[in-house]
Amino acid sequence: MIGFTFIFISIVIFLLFIWNTVENFEPDSVLFMKKTEAYSVLTQVDYFRNFNSLDYKLRNITKHNVFDVYRKSIQDFTREEKQAIRWIVTNLDSKIRDYLPRRWCFIKTLNIEAGMPHTRGNCIVLPTQFISEIVEYKKRNKIPEYHSLTLIHEQVHVYQRQNPQLFEDLYINYWNFTHSQNISTNSIYRNRTNPDGTDIGWYYRGKLLPVSIYKANAKTIKDVDNVLFDGLNYLTIQNSDYQNFFGSDNNYHPNEISAHYFEKYFGNYFSKTGNGKTAEAYRKFKIWLNSQN
Ligand SMILES: [Zn+2]
Repeated sequence: MIGFTFIFISIVIFLLFIWNTVENFEPDSVLFMKKTEAYSVLTQVDYFRNFNSLDYKLRNITKHNVFDVYRKSIQDFTREEKQAIRWIVTNLDSKIRDYLPRRWCFIKTLNIEAGMPHTRGNCIVLPTQFISEIVEYKKRNKIPEYHSLTLIHEQVHVYQRQNPQLFEDLYINYWNFTHSQNISTNSIYRNRTNPDGTDIGWYYRGKLLPVSIYKANAKTIKDVDNVLFDGLNYLTIQNSDYQNFFGSDNNYHPNEISAHYFEKYFGNYFSKTGNGKTAEAYRKFKIWLNSQN
């Protein structure tokens, strides 16, 4: 009987030990901005300062009504939507907790920025459609991969804003970028201003500026070509040294490349160049990332 009691107590102690060492994966906080708070974030001028005439026209706004349009776009989150976003973010936290900020902030909008998720300040701006889709997935208790990766991508943009020096190290010391404030107006007059990469002064190998420029017949802000500006001409990214190095022709700003690579890293798939090799820039990105931890 004494032997049995001893074994029983040992098992209880062992289970208590295990219970205490199991980590509880949860983000530090998930904030949902109310209308007034969201308005003060969306109207920060750092973004609009760079707008050109096409930026206004293709967003169907003017210099005079821009803040009014953004204010009207802000929506309140429903309880169900908050639960669904907490659900997906809590699932992500176990993967990314050592790499990305664990404080999340969300703003819900309707009909701005062509319905594309993006970031402003420390907040991720999500269109209503994107949030509704997460709600539907939660009903089926199925974590959506696309939405998870998009949230990782956007949280990287928040991280970039909070730690510019960390990313400058990646861009300069691993990726052959240099930074310059001197940008010719030719390179930017058709540039699509991107809230996630407002500083476009990143030159690849000292001479090529990757930019996303509006097509001649653009109808929306989605109608762009990603090109390399060499000071005179817009060069195609396809088959360039730049594409070979980064493994894609859809990389028009180092902030976008790094956000995309975080998606790859956590999505557990690899960037391939045309001949099936892992892109050199992605290999270097992993070295940079692992040197942080
Ligand atoms: Zn992005």
